[in-house]
Amino acid sequence: MPCFPQPYTSTVSHWQQTNRGSTSLWDHGRDAALPMEVVDYVIVGAGATGTALAYYLSRPGGAAAGKKVVILDAKDVASGASGRNGGHVVGQSWQLLTPLMAPLEEGGAGLSAEDALDVIMFEQSNMDLVENLVRSERIDADFWRGSRVEVLVTPEGAAGNLRNYELMQRLLKTHPKHQGRVLDWEVVTDPAAVRKLSRTRGAVQANRIPGASWHPHKGVTAFLRLALASETADVRFYSWAPVAGFSSNADGTVTVDCAARGNVRTRNVIFATNAYTQHVLPELKDILVPVQSHSALVTSPATYAGPRALQTTFGVEAGPYLIQTPDSGVVLGPYPSALFGRRLLKPEQVYGIDDDSFVQPAAKQWLADYCRDSFVGWGQETDGEGLTKCWTGVICHSVDYLPIVGAVPGRPGVWIAAGYNGRGMALIHSVTRGLAHQLKTGEWDARVPRSFEVTGARIQRARECALHPLDYPVTGLEYRTMKSKM
Ligand SMILES: Cc1cc2nc3c(=O)[nH]c(=O)nc-3n(C[C@H](O)[C@H](O)[C@H](O)COP(=O)(O)OP(=O)(O)OC[C@H]3O[C@@H](n4cnc5c(N)ncnc54)[C@H](O)[C@@H]3O)c2cc1C
Repeated sequence: MPCFPQPYTSTVSHWQQTNRGSTSLWDHGRDAALPMEVVDYVIVGAGATGTALAYYLSRPGGAAAGKKVVILDAKDVASGASGRNGGHVVGQSWQLLTPLMAPLEEGGAGLSAEDALDVIMFEQSNMDLVENLVRSERIDADFWRGSRVEVLVTPEGAAGNLRNYELMQRLLKTHPKHQGRVLDWEVVTDPAAVRKLSRTRGAVQANRIPGASWHPHKGVTAFLRLALASETADVRFYSWAPVAGFSSNADGTVTVDCAARGNVRTRNVIFATNAYTQHVLPELKDILVPVQSHSALVTSPATYAGPRALQTTFGVEAGPYLIQTPDSGVVLGPYPSALFGRRLLKPEQVYGIDDDSFVQPAAKQWLADYCRDSFVGWGQETDGEGLTKCWTGVICHSVDYLPIVGAVPGRPGVWIAAGYNGRGMALIHSVTRGLAHQLKTGEWDARVPRSFEVTGARIQRARECALHPLDYPVTGLEYRTMKSKM
């Protein structure tokens, strides 16, 4: 059953609020007629995935050179998770080893240590890819590159962190692909240094790794603009064009049903629908699960402004992920364990929920209190400071904790890229560059971990695994915490 048009009005994020002037792409193609002719590619979804894919397809020499690309979104560009997220452009450190290596039956990806390291390195190289594109394409999206600090606040968390760090060091000595790689990554254990780096009450250990952030709504819009301006491919974007379903034709084309907007026939349809995928590809219902997630903008008091503003991004054990924006304070969101561990929300209040029209009062209050209660010397907030905005968005978890990419089994001409487990910004550019390569050559892009490929066996395995959605881990940081508290 289609979930669009939605019967409610979504909350508005800081990013959506600050990119809706006349140069944004709101309502683009909303009233235009859909093409009558058969097109080469229809991309469903204009979030980070759909727009980055359109960008790669439409580069000179890309799969869409001399061809037609249609992008359809049920709402506006970046109206989903991409315009509602926490702004981090990189995932986690070696902490990801825990969920990537945990067996499938325990909610992990079940990868070998070598394959898990490959995924972590893939995310790191994605950050370089985004940075290079932002610079070469002169994208104005507040892109910032610096350090990410991961703060451990419990002795158990710190011990697990050290174990993973040592494992990663060992792997880097022997891994066939990453052997000998030198990384600017460190674990800080000296209490004074931890205090200085983290500025967080109760911190016992900290990791410092490369980090990056941006204004995701501006970034995603910029890639869509570049695709629309392609001189190589004919790219068109139709907002407010919800896809109700699709059907395969005898001639190998696919008819995409946009209900009241009409139909588009295409040689390939790519679903970049992330948390909403099950409504158009029901066979992926068991493997892709929507998860409602919160985020907030907190305006810093003078004690954390100017030279005293935060200098790094953060990920805090059973706490928030957080970035410093250039001009509006901090954007932070809770790892689910922050909410479950404090019994503020029950897992069933977030898993399986694809509604971003409301915030949970308990989550909002925790976000309002976090900076004041946790950052040393934050102090009192006056009117106009503190919690300024709170919103929700819907991320997409995959049962086996890995993205789902490639040709959908048994569906000729149908492709997918989805299921980033809350780390889409850290994955999407490299994933969609790979998918664009596959669409052009028919071959899997060797730069993308093969474990991301959507296969019949993987879908079947997820189905048989029969994990209750509430068992899914969310990040390496909270994996153990969440399991132990449930
Ligand atoms: C609160 C929050 C915080 C996050 N923080 C971070 C972070 O800091 N770092 C990070 O890396 N990741 C983060 N994420 C995750 C990240 O935002 C996502 O992984 C990423 O945006 C997914 O991009 P997407 O384009 O695949 O999906 P979306 O951005 O959700 O786009 C899917 C699009 O498909 C459209 N669509 C769906 N179904 C249909 C249909 N039937 N017809 C037409 N259109 C349809 C939707 O309207 C939507 O625009 C966060 C997410 C949330 C919600």
